[in-house]
Amino acid sequence: MDTSFFVAWMEEIATAVQAQRDHLTQLDAAIGDADHGSNLDRGFGEVRRALADSPPETPGSTLMLAGSTLIRKVGGASGPLYGTAFRQMGKSLGDVPDVSLAELSAALDAALAGVQKLGAAVEGDKTMVDALAPAVRALAQAVQEGAKPEDALSAVAAAAQEGARATIPLQARKGRASYLGSRSAGHEDPGAASTALVLSALRTAGFRTW
Ligand code: ADP
Ligand code: MG
Repeated sequence: MDTSFFVAWMEEIATAVQAQRDHLTQLDAAIGDADHGSNLDRGFGEVRRALADSPPETPGSTLMLAGSTLIRKVGGASGPLYGTAFRQMGKSLGDVPDVSLAELSAALDAALAGVQKLGAAVEGDKTMVDALAPAVRALAQAVQEGAKPEDALSAVAAAAQEGARATIPLQARKGRASYLGSRSAGHEDPGAASTALVLSALRTAGFRTW
């Protein structure tokens, strides 16, 4: 996976987030403050612009630029959390021009560690961690089994989607939704839903660039 793959990933995220903007905002209206869709749509629009303005040379610098842009442009909890996730991925990839599945797996692991260090959420707290953590495990397992890249990325997408759906019955213990206590149960967590979109876009980027 080269720089064009990672740029395609960011473009696919921007497209998916734009298409699901109202849905994400509705999820956040139920248990938050109804800004998650607009936060991310604005943020990934800015990422797309930043990448077009100064085309990055490596996968790592692509993700660093995306992360820094999100931190700068997106308020709320999700901007710093997504920004940290991409920056930690970029740092993990270093200068490699062509990323292997094993390197992507290590980078996603670093993203999860960064999100958990910043937000202190564990699985079951009804946050983006509930989609990210199973996706990290799915990729590690696919690497171990020697899966083909397209199958590995499909497994990542499926695990993230399942993790997001599994947040529905949970009671939130982190973020704004936790203020609702037991009333947060019965709704999908918006950040877990957007994380599933972000990780599913990896597979779409693969279809586009391979
Ligand atoms: P805000 O809550 O500030 O309005 P957003 O609506 O953009 O920000 O994002 C809300 C999402 O952020 C939640 O659905 C949740 O997934 C995620 N989130 C909030 N707090 C945390 C945390 N401490 N750790 C991980 N994710 C979190
Ligand atoms: Mg919100």
